[in-house]
Formats: sequence, structure tokens, C-alpha cells
Amino acid sequence: MAGSPLVVIAGPPGSGKGTQCARLGEQLGFSHVSTGDALRDEIERGTRMGRHVRAWVNSGRLVPDRVAVEVVLDRLDTQPEAPAALLDGFPRTVAQGEALEHLRPGAVELAIALVVPRATLVRRLALRNRDDDHSRALGCRLAAFEQETRPMLAWFAARGLLVEVDGDQPDAASAALVARLMAGICAASEA
Ligand code: AMP
Repeated sequence: MAGSPLVVIAGPPGSGKGTQCARLGEQLGFSHVSTGDALRDEIERGTRMGRHVRAWVNSGRLVPDRVAVEVVLDRLDTQPEAPAALLDGFPRTVAQGEALEHLRPGAVELAIALVVPRATLVRRLALRNRDDDHSRALGCRLAAFEQETRPMLAWFAARGLLVEVDGDQPDAASAALVARLMAGICAASEA
């Protein structure tokens, strides 16, 4: 699905990006590409890329932009046809946003930022048990969000593509809100 519209789902670790994407994918028939899942899959399968990125992912640092772009385009190109694709956790830096715009000009229809108070993030993450959920990696991931991803959100805002959504609402309410936003965007793009 090389030419399909893209919807970016962004937010700090624990903001519910994966949960929202799964729900929205089901509701709207959009495909869902998660760079974090793709990277963990490479690590688990012990591929060359997996061995290359393991230390970055497990310590909570962002993998190099070039690798993130490669993995997301690879996954996008092998998705079945769908009206749009949800990009979960990509782009995460301005450089990734620029690379995406260069490779898929005008493809991003909307970037949705899930806004969740820090105390909620920490509480949610304490309930998970991923290799990068230990406290040092967690601090690193929250810092990466502030330092690298916030400027990327500003980059989308400057292009009129950013919408912020309260990710601390019960799942159904915020998913419905996001779904309405996205349904409107898609209807407009079909007209
Ligand atoms: P996530 O599952 O989205 O929380 O991502 C888990 C980890 O994968 C992150 O902490 C990074 O190490 C890596 N990662 C995921 N997406 C990206 C990206 N777009 N750019 C760089 N690193 C990423």
C-alpha cells in the first residue's frame, strides 16, 4: 500500500498508542504499523537489524533515524490494501518527519498526539513487563519524547496537521473522538 494516506499516532511511552491503534484499526479498517513492535520482532527473530538495534531499544534510546525509516517503509510496503495506515510511534524526530515527507509527499493526513499526565504514564508502565520498561530505560524514553518527539509534533502543528487528544479518558471515549476526527479526514479526502 505504497500510496495510501497516513495517520500518525504520537504520544509518550504509556500514552496508549498501541491500544488506540488496535481499536481504530478494527473500527475503520485501517492498517497499523508500529515501529516499536517491528523492532521488537526483529530483535526476537535475531535478524541482522534486530542484533543491530537491540541495545538501543532495551536501553530506551531511539534507534538511528535511518533504521526507523527503513523499518517503517518496509512494513508499510507489505501491508494489505486499506483506506489508510496508522503509524504508531513513527515519526519520532523531525528528521524522520522530513524523510517521510520526502519519500511520501503529502501522504500524512493527520498527526494525533495523545496527551496523558506523567503520573498516569508512570502508573501504566509499572503494570507492563517489557524489557525496556525498567526505570532507567523509562527515564530515557520519556526524555527522548521531550527532546526529540515534541519538536516533531511542533513540526506537524506548523503544517496544520496536528490534533491533540486527551488520552487519559476512558478508552472508548477517546477512541471514539479520534475515530470521528479520522472519519472526517477520510471523507474529505474521498470527495
Ligand atoms: P514503542 O513500542 O513505540 O514504545 O517503541 C519502543 C522502542 O523502539 C523505543 O523506545 C525506541 O528504542 C524504538 N523506536 C520505536 N519507534 C522508533 C522511532 N520512530 N525512531 C527511533 N526509535 C524508535
